[in-house]
Amino acid sequence: MTARRDELATNLAGVRERIERAARAADRPASDIELIVVTKYFPASDVDLLAGLGVRHIGENKDQEASAKMADLTRRDDVTVHFIGQLQSNKVAHVTSYADVVQSVDRPKIANAMDRAAERAGRRLEVLLQVALDDSGGRGGVAPEDADALADLLVGSGSLTLRGVMAVAPREGDPRAAFARLREVAHGIRANHPDATWISAGMSGDLEDAVLEGATHLRVGTAILGSRPSLG
Ligand SMILES: *Cc1c(COP(=O)(O)O)cnc(C)c1O
Repeated sequence: MTARRDELATNLAGVRERIERAARAADRPASDIELIVVTKYFPASDVDLLAGLGVRHIGENKDQEASAKMADLTRRDDVTVHFIGQLQSNKVAHVTSYADVVQSVDRPKIANAMDRAAERAGRRLEVLLQVALDDSGGRGGVAPEDADALADLLVGSGSLTLRGVMAVAPREGDPRAAFARLREVAHGIRANHPDATWISAGMSGDLEDAVLEGATHLRVGTAILGSRPSLG
């Protein structure tokens, strides 16, 4: 456990250093950028170690795995849990039962189901609207031209609070150009909804590009926890 703690501490320090360097290059305060450590495929014990190292935000992308992990955490109250995986409507109520923030709302059907689930649970849920940055839509997300309408729907819902946008860079092409597009979509939404200020973008391989294009939240897995099993 001590060895794993040291490994996580070293990797975390390396990522924080990268964020600081990128923030300096972008002429932004590093304190404006929140790190979400993506712990999918890694055990609850790693989340507890990360919490002990000062991590306050974790990301999970599979409902079943995430909910089981929540139950095993000894430091659940120390972390904010972000659900970042693709959503199916039959999973929405379950995700709503444990997630603090859902970043992957990408269609009206999901938005409406989540609003009802949050209302039934008697809570407000913070959400981000996921934007598709590739034409195939293979990584989920609403098309940029439909983002404003979905944002309006989310803001008009009774139990959801729209915080901003999330996206994954396309597998091919220049991530910086994709994040620039995301920033435009984010600004369009913010013109009507000034509180929707978050831009969740950037992962292990492209966080510098995301910081240059205004990301407020980074989702980093591999660079901190190591390679995931090849399953997914
Ligand atoms: C897995 C995942 C990440 C983290 O990716 P890494 O390359 O491991 O840093 C970020 N965002 C989403 C939506 C993910 O599913």
